[in-house]
Amino acid sequence: MSGAGWNVVRCSACKTCHGHRGTGRTCPHCGQKLPVDAEIVTSVATPSDLRIGVALANTPEELRDSLRKRLEVNQNLFPQEEPISFQGLPKILLSATDENGALSVKSLQPMLNKSNVDIDAEDLIAMSESQGLLLRLDTDCWQLLE
Ligand SMILES: [Zn+2]
Repeated sequence: MSGAGWNVVRCSACKTCHGHRGTGRTCPHCGQKLPVDAEIVTSVATPSDLRIGVALANTPEELRDSLRKRLEVNQNLFPQEEPISFQGLPKILLSATDENGALSVKSLQPMLNKSNVDIDAEDLIAMSESQGLLLRLDTDCWQLLE
């Protein structure tokens, strides 16, 4: 059966697992078309569970237990997921500004997604505003302060 949530799907061609909402059409690893009855290793409720599920599914059985323990203790152990720091924050804000040094929720959100920062653009802007990093210019427009 194809679960309604997020599925960890195993490609029958390259045996690599990947995450999908519902079931996918092709394998992102080898490009092989996936059959309708592609093996669903497990189904999870959220994208973050999905990431753990995929990581576990692609880990050799003997290493899986220790990985699972680490992941359960702290989901932030994924190397690309560094907690937001005050060194990194201005850089993310800067990357979201236009040529006039202004940014909006709309321009910031993709930068956060790209940096794997798990925080809402609006929350981050509010936080930066209170830290004096941003100055509100308009309803959805902020100036980055040096
Ligand atoms: Zn594949």
